[in-house]
This record gives sequence, structure tokens and C-alpha cells, in this order.
Amino acid sequence: MGLDLQAIRASVPALAQQIHGKPLVYLDNGATALKPQPVIDALLGYYAGYSANVHRGVHTLSVRATEALEAARRDVAAHLCVQDDCEIIFTRGTTESINLVAQTWARRTLVAGDEIVVSAMEHHSNIVPWQLVAAETGAVVRVLPMDDRGVLDLTAAAEIIGDKTRLLAVVAVSNALGTVNPVRKLAAMARAVGAKVLVDGAQAVPHGAVDVHAYDADFFAFSGHKTYGPTGIGVLWGRREALEACGTWHGGGDMIRSVSFEGTTFAELPARLEAGTPHIAGAIGLGAALRWMQSLDLDAIAAHEADLLAYGHALLREIPGLRPIGEAPQKAGVMSFVVDGVHPNDVGTLLDGYGIAVRTGHHCAEPAMRRLGISGTIRASLAVYNTTEDLDRLAEALRRALRLLGA
Ligand code: PLP
Repeated sequence: MGLDLQAIRASVPALAQQIHGKPLVYLDNGATALKPQPVIDALLGYYAGYSANVHRGVHTLSVRATEALEAARRDVAAHLCVQDDCEIIFTRGTTESINLVAQTWARRTLVAGDEIVVSAMEHHSNIVPWQLVAAETGAVVRVLPMDDRGVLDLTAAAEIIGDKTRLLAVVAVSNALGTVNPVRKLAAMARAVGAKVLVDGAQAVPHGAVDVHAYDADFFAFSGHKTYGPTGIGVLWGRREALEACGTWHGGGDMIRSVSFEGTTFAELPARLEAGTPHIAGAIGLGAALRWMQSLDLDAIAAHEADLLAYGHALLREIPGLRPIGEAPQKAGVMSFVVDGVHPNDVGTLLDGYGIAVRTGHHCAEPAMRRLGISGTIRASLAVYNTTEDLDRLAEALRRALRLLGA
């Protein structure tokens, strides 16, 4: 099925605006995606119509809100090809999902000398939580190296993932380079030594179909706001037995069965890991976002973005002075590049003047930048509503910006 790009663009109201007198070209989707009308309507519907608190309420609005929240959980489960919606934990985003595993599983399980393996291209949110746990437990964080193209070295991985490995925490798609990692192969290495596997799916879910079981992971994290949904909502999926092995983290309402001063007993999953009033509107909005993606056809989204990526790479390669960063054969959603001798922010600021939104800097992946010998990149990142015209505008604006900068 092809995509009706005109209709898709018309359903994303933020696209229909001018920035500095020019039609907006939004290529900062890796940071966050613009929101389609059904998501905005879902948020508005909750706040305008039934913004009651969930669970335990006996009145009609509370029942409606609870039903909508739990329907959103089922939407997420279906989207990730998960059968048991109790395995879907709502969090604030990928960062909180990873910290949840770090605090409830790693911190109570790991001992001195145990190893947590991450890759050289992780987002800080898949590095720092493990460093914090390592500092407390005496565990060690080890790093899977990558080559100059941004491809992980599987031979080195086979040496690093070993008897001491307790956890492999790896990004499915790099936000800084666009590399699609061979997660299943890495997971097989981790499984062979009895380690758990966590996949950072923040940049995977927005770009097409995801089946968490295909990764053979124990945990999978993603953010609503990068997936056309609201900010402040995200997901941790875990295999039931992996989630059962997680202790409690935040204590409070909703996560208990019974509280007394003599002792407290805890609720079943998913409530045990969702203390306090959840981001009800956020979850409902996320459900709407995932249904919107599905209504477009997930494979068609992936195919469209793959075409855009090939088109964009070809355009950028023709611009003298630009150097692509991240040239893995398998990529999704991201075109990163540098102009030698020019600060990425200067290019980003000039592009903004032409109405083009890109991100510049280290993209919260400082170790990856350091490995490649750069301080940051200019990153154009794609969503389903982008077009070849967007990329033509980017290329044209880049040529002008580089002339102005004398590059
Ligand atoms: N992991 C990756 C690969 C990301 O791209 C991001 C955000 O850029 C995150 C994790 C953190 O996501 P959030 O800030 O939504 O928690």
C-alpha cells in the first residue's frame, strides 16, 4: 500500500506553518515527532470530557478514564506484538524505562565484578543508569566497539560478552548515526552466557513495525513523543518473568495491595511498577499515535523512509564540504554530517533561517562522537510526513549556508 503523503501532512497541523517567512521543513524527528490530529483529539477528548482519575473509581468518568488507559495499554501491546498486556509498563519515556530496570533489577541483582555490556553508540540514557548501578554494586560497564562507519564489531562482541556478562543493554537504532544494530545476533551471544538483554527502542518504534520477540530481548524501552505521541509518556516492556524479577521502585498509591504500619503487600504487574497517578492523557494519546501509525501501514512507513534516506544521502553526497557521519549499510531515519572547520550550531542556525529544523550537537551520544573524533554533527532525522521536497529544500539551504560560512 502506498502512502497518501498529502493527506498525512494535512493531518499534522504543526507542519502548516511558516518559520522566518518560509514553510517549515521539520527534520528533527529523532528528537521528537510532530503530533497528528488524532493524537491531539485524544488528549483534548480526555481533558475536555472525562479527565477523572483511574482505577478504583466507581463513578462513570473514572470508569471511562480507566477503560481508555487500559485500552491504550492493549494498543501498545498489539503494536509491539506482545500477547500479555500486563507486560506493558507505562513510564515517562525511554530514560525512565531504562532507569526502572537499572534500579529494580540491576541494582538488587548485580555484584562486584559482574559486567554490563553496552555499545559505543548508546544514548546517554543507556549509559549513565548503568554507571550509577556499577558505582553502587561494583559491577563493570564494558563497551562493544564500532568502526568508523558506525557498525558494531561482532567479533569483538563475541569476546566481550562472556561469563561475567549479566546484562546486554543495546540500542536498536542509533539516534546519532542511524545505524540499525544486529540486536538479535548480540542477544544470542548474551543468552548463551545467561545474561539479560535490554533493547533501547526509542528510534526503532517510530520507523516501522516492531516485534519485541524478534529481538529475543527481556526488556524493551521506547518514548511516546518520538512516536507521534505526547511527551511525558513512554513504555517499558518486559517478559513477565523478567518483570517479576524486578523489585519495587517508587512506592505509593496504585502499586500496593494493602498497606498497614505492620507491613505492606504489593499489587500484581503492571500496577506494582506504576506508582501514583499515571500520565493518563499521555497514555491515551500514545494509543492514538500507534493506531494512527498502523492506519498508515507500518511497512509502508518503513519503505517510504528508506526511500527518503537513500534520496537524502545521494543529495548530501553531492554537496562539496559535507562529510557524512554514520555510513552503516543498515540505517534508519537519520542523516548525520559535519562540515570540517565549521561548528554544527552555525549551520543549524542558518538552516533555521531558511525554515528548516535540524538538530546539532552530540545528540546525547558523547562517547560515539568522541570515538569518531568529532564534537557533534548536524542531524536531519526523518518521519513519515517528510517528502523529497523537504530534502531538496535542505540541500539547497545547505549549499547557501556553506557559501555564507565560506566553507
Ligand atoms: N535512547 C535513544 C536512542 C534516544 O534517541 C533517546 C532520545 O533522544 C533516548 C534514549 C531518550 O529518550 P527520552 O528522552 O524520551 O527518555
